[in-house]
Amino acid sequence: MPNPPSTPLIEIVDLTKVYKMGTVEVHALRGVSLTIQPGEYVAIVGASGSGKSTLMNMLGLLDQPTDGIYRVRGTESQKLGKKALSDLRNREIGFVFQRFNLLARATAMRQVELPLFYAGISVRKSKEMATGALTRVGLGDRTHHRPEELSGGQQQRVAIARAIVNQPSLLLADEPTGALDSQTGEEILTLFEELHSQGLTLIVVTHDPDVAGRAHRVITMRDGLILEDVQQVPSRPAPAPGGDASVTPVAQPTPDIQPIPGAQPRVILETAGEVAV
Ligand code: ADP
Repeated sequence: MPNPPSTPLIEIVDLTKVYKMGTVEVHALRGVSLTIQPGEYVAIVGASGSGKSTLMNMLGLLDQPTDGIYRVRGTESQKLGKKALSDLRNREIGFVFQRFNLLARATAMRQVELPLFYAGISVRKSKEMATGALTRVGLGDRTHHRPEELSGGQQQRVAIARAIVNQPSLLLADEPTGALDSQTGEEILTLFEELHSQGLTLIVVTHDPDVAGRAHRVITMRDGLILEDVQQVPSRPAPAPGGDASVTPVAQPTPDIQPIPGAQPRVILETAGEVAV
């Protein structure tokens, strides 16, 4: 007998979101359906106003849809009360934002311990877990530094450590390199690749094609709908400026783009200027 298909990490069906502003209705999501399996690395792209942030808020259980179904590991989120919803979010999802969102006066250790405190984990265990997460992002020697004593890239690493300390299934990142110079942004993308290779599912919202190029799947939003949903061979890291002998330049593979079965509304394949619907 064939193995039963595994439960998707995320399953959304015909999701809509309508913002009401007085008598005006804004249809930010118009019926989005999407399945994400554990271990995927997905970028969500699209023009400003296309619905990326709204979709991200839904995926992160930060806001309720107007209609449609959203399941996380098979659990239908709309059927949960407030407490169960926040437990599900804390357990399954970590967030990374463009502006790091760190507490100005707290040490790296404290920033990362905080979610564990809210999860009711003992002080001793929290310290151990926070140290582990900071080491995982390469900041094992910066645990007592405050944000002002850290570079932008290091601050984003602290934010990533805070997001993964609970060992969530999914990391949701909103323009994670938007406030960083390109070399530091590159370090963050390399860290994402490491975390992905360790089994973390990643969804990155970005307008930067270089960031999207590193994902294995790119979803393009337009006018509150999915315009394209394609698999791709991720691009390689850019060589360090000035040429780094440890990085061998590699010819870029031609993107091997394949449609996602069942993607909606239609999958459009775009290869070397040719568009096939
Ligand atoms: P993106 O992230 O792609 O720029 P958004 O999801 O922020 O797009 O916005 C999609 C649409 O929904 C836009 O027309 C935007 O103006 C509208 N919108 C977003 N958030 C709100 C809100 N809180 N209230 C009213 N309209 C909103």
